[in-house]
Amino acid sequence: MTDLTVRTLDASSTKITPVTVAALRSKLRGTVALPGEDGYDAARSIWNAMIDRRPALVVRCLGAADVINAVTLARNEKLLLAVRSGGHNIAGNAVCDGGLLIDLSLMKSVHVNPASLTARVEPGATLADFDKEAQGFALATPLGINSTTGVAGLTLGGGFGWTTRKFGLTVDNLISADVITADAKLVRASDKENQDLFWALRGGGGNFGIVTSFEFKLHPLGPEVLSGLVVHPFNKAGELLREFRRIAKEAPDELTTWIVMRKAPPLPFLPTEWHGKEVLIFAACYSGDIKEGEKAMHALRALGKPIVDVISPHPFTGWQAAFDPLLTPGARNYWKSHDFTELSDAAIKVILDAVHTLPSPECEVFIAHVGGAMARIAPDATAWSNRNAHFIMNVHTRWRDRAQDSACVAWARRLFDAAAPFSSGSVYVNFMPDDEDDRVEKAYGTNYRRLAEIKRRYDPNNLFRMNQNIRPTK
Ligand SMILES: Cc1cc2nc3c(=O)[nH]c(=O)nc-3n(C[C@H](O)[C@H](O)[C@H](O)COP(=O)(O)OP(=O)(O)OC[C@H]3O[C@@H](n4cnc5c(N)ncnc54)[C@H](O)[C@@H]3O)c2cc1C
Repeated sequence: MTDLTVRTLDASSTKITPVTVAALRSKLRGTVALPGEDGYDAARSIWNAMIDRRPALVVRCLGAADVINAVTLARNEKLLLAVRSGGHNIAGNAVCDGGLLIDLSLMKSVHVNPASLTARVEPGATLADFDKEAQGFALATPLGINSTTGVAGLTLGGGFGWTTRKFGLTVDNLISADVITADAKLVRASDKENQDLFWALRGGGGNFGIVTSFEFKLHPLGPEVLSGLVVHPFNKAGELLREFRRIAKEAPDELTTWIVMRKAPPLPFLPTEWHGKEVLIFAACYSGDIKEGEKAMHALRALGKPIVDVISPHPFTGWQAAFDPLLTPGARNYWKSHDFTELSDAAIKVILDAVHTLPSPECEVFIAHVGGAMARIAPDATAWSNRNAHFIMNVHTRWRDRAQDSACVAWARRLFDAAAPFSSGSVYVNFMPDDEDDRVEKAYGTNYRRLAEIKRRYDPNNLFRMNQNIRPTK
């Protein structure tokens, strides 16, 4: 083996000798994977096929000590560093070109304590890993809607899903985190220790260190929840959305409905004549008693004349994976997102116009109804500040053929620009693509200044910069 050329933080490069690599290997429980070696491609391949980066070396960690060894090398040699957990982030910051990749995807343990209603989770766990273990005890914490997403990145950006209106954001349920900081030390962050760091981790992304263990609060839920889809013809979308605003306003915290607008996929329960035609889908979940859920969903299910209504009790773990077939890895993806405090008539119009010109059969516009418990927490209580968002729109542009890149990206940007005047101006960092550096400050609003100050204390040289980056205060 010859010296490795590795990119550094100042955009030049340095040489890492075979002796240094061998010394690192000898300290690890995990492995070092160099280009062409076992595990290298698995570690660098992520959900969004637009991202195809080749790190100079990968450390596949099996525990906190491995992470400390990898961070020590990165810090001593000033290496460009990326951190990967579930590998789902749309911006692709989980992988760097030419630098050091710390891969946490093999650290997947989930330990539930039903007596204390808590769970300890390692960063490589996916939502499916978490839900399957917690549902073994009919327990849950709010996570996202696609079961292959990583718990780590989702949590650090804030995290919301079907149970957020009832139980809050994922970060509202974080009790503590073990963090390897930029000086390669293990610290615990909680309400009692390193409170500033704990505040920053709850929405501030991967800016402050590498989390090797999360502790979450759990809530009784399931094993079945009333959930499913009501699919409507798209020509009724305007009236349906205007009616839906009233239903959303009056919804109890237990009821969460997301709107999906797209060309109908060939789902077995959809009549074939609808396959490939534009539809509006209400996807709904009631996080509570099934009978109460029937009452709470009545108004939604009575709207218009749906093509199908497939709402019924489903296992919670099944519902958490219901969208997986539409969100498989390997497609090209570009997202744009806005928060809305209300869905105005004008916002509805620009969204519907865009859905009439979807550039590929897999593109969709998702609108999540949030609020409830999430909105009752003060905007400065955690780094996540967008507590007044009632609706989060994600322009989820997805296609297969590289030749369609510019048409698909342009479609997403056009809708994003047209909807901007009606949005609240804030955005969820986990939905931002890699070309929105200028939006990071807006994403955190008035919390940005405090985040930049905490960044200065914990990571003054911005070692953790492959993320929606918060620049340390000078
Ligand atoms: C199909 C799909 C559906 C989604 N649905 C939802 C949803 O319903 N709700 C929701 O809230 N979000 C959702 N998301 C967004 C999701 O929260 C982000 O993509 C999130 O970053 C994924 O986490 P990950 O661990 O898989 O990401 P990765 O790509 O592995 O990591 C993302 C970034 O997080 C940081 N990071 C990762 N692990 C660590 C760690 N252990 N310590 C420190 N920093 C770390 C790094 O900066 C890294 O670049 C969805 C994403 C996809 C692709």
